[in-house]
Amino acid sequence: MSVAEPTSETSDEPVLKVVEDATCTFCGCVCDDIDLTVENDRITKAKSACVLGKAWFFNHHVEDRPEATIDGEPVTYEAAVERAAEILTSARYPVTYGLSDTTSEAQRVAVAVTDWIGGIVDTTTSVCHGPSGMAFQGVGEVTCTLGEIKNRADFLVYWGGNPAESHPRHFTKYSLMPKGDHVPRGRKDRYAVLVDVRKTKSAKAMDLFLQVKPRSDFELAWTLRALAKGIEVDGQAVRDKTGIELDVLQGMMERMKGSNFGAILFGMGLTMTRGKHVNSEAVLALARDMNEYGHRWVAKPMRGHGNVTGADQVVSWSTGYPFGVHLGRGYPRFNPGEYTTSDVLARGEADAAFIIASDPYSNFSQPARDHLKSIPSVVLDPKLSETARIATVAFTTATYGINTPGTVYRMDDVPIPLRPAFDSPFKSDYEILKAIETSVRKRVRSGASRP
Ligand code: SF4
Repeated sequence: MSVAEPTSETSDEPVLKVVEDATCTFCGCVCDDIDLTVENDRITKAKSACVLGKAWFFNHHVEDRPEATIDGEPVTYEAAVERAAEILTSARYPVTYGLSDTTSEAQRVAVAVTDWIGGIVDTTTSVCHGPSGMAFQGVGEVTCTLGEIKNRADFLVYWGGNPAESHPRHFTKYSLMPKGDHVPRGRKDRYAVLVDVRKTKSAKAMDLFLQVKPRSDFELAWTLRALAKGIEVDGQAVRDKTGIELDVLQGMMERMKGSNFGAILFGMGLTMTRGKHVNSEAVLALARDMNEYGHRWVAKPMRGHGNVTGADQVVSWSTGYPFGVHLGRGYPRFNPGEYTTSDVLARGEADAAFIIASDPYSNFSQPARDHLKSIPSVVLDPKLSETARIATVAFTTATYGINTPGTVYRMDDVPIPLRPAFDSPFKSDYEILKAIETSVRKRVRSGASRP
């Protein structure tokens, strides 16, 4: 990595610099080979970035907003920190939520604050790959890095996702197209299957498209498991339930058994449809089963937000569980449905919310939104999101990756350093969280606001 020296002949000319090998945090691919051209506080070129990455970099601008507000009115940073700490320490059932679009350093402090206030720590995983997090605990995960997939995978199954549009460089950089050590001809050495309920843009890039009937992923995965084990299955029942002919699945299984390294890459079309965590379990178990036939198979979730994988990592290594963790009794308790934010809010249970780098007010259910609006909330966001608009205390933050350094985890659990392009007038999530943590700790230790 290098940052070229800024150049400017005269003071009127823009200050130019190039940041090599910068990291895009727009999606879970976390591409770390982007060369950014920066003119003053604008990014004007993003070499190697995909269309989504370019939009992420080019649309970034310094917000014309106060550093902090209380009830919508501008206040000093110090006043906002104290009010935030007061809200969090006064609450009996506070919930900390978000965390998928910030650094792992900030995530760690957010868990610490939640521990001090005895609240729930939950992340956006609870509304995307939460079922996979539950399934890992049930059946385990045969896993690998994206580098291994690039260098070894000769059979790819994309299940319930549309990477061509959601993760545009996944095909070209990590999975389908690149030449690798054991697949020297790249695409020609790989066989690819898409399983989905509709023919998306990704289907065009496949060798086989399986259009599964909606809400039948579990049955399809178990049919493949049965075929892998040589168990006789009823072709008519399979066709009626999944919409797919048995001989197509038999042919696919034959190829799967003949492959050297297979990867199942699954998305929210699998995890958030009927069955949820049992769908994830079925696909993880299928990958595990396939290892009995002499060759290696793995299954990996395709993660969406830039550092949602880091959120899972940090919450897991801090508490033992990946999301939806209640710390109120002084030890962690994990119970999705009971301690997940959308549920806690929809039932009207939480009495304060601490939202970091997320916008639940624009995408939760109406009962959850109504309750969120009715309780005091502390929100950290670089943009004036819908959630920031209704916040009691709102902090405008610097944008991770563009303005702040730190660590993020790629979707394959590999940590990647950030190389910021330019400074922001606003503080980072990490700095704000540290200040809140200091104040919270003082208050809890003194017993000042503990209910
Ligand atoms: S694939 Fe994702 S991380 Fe890579 S450049 Fe595109 S948006 Fe950014």
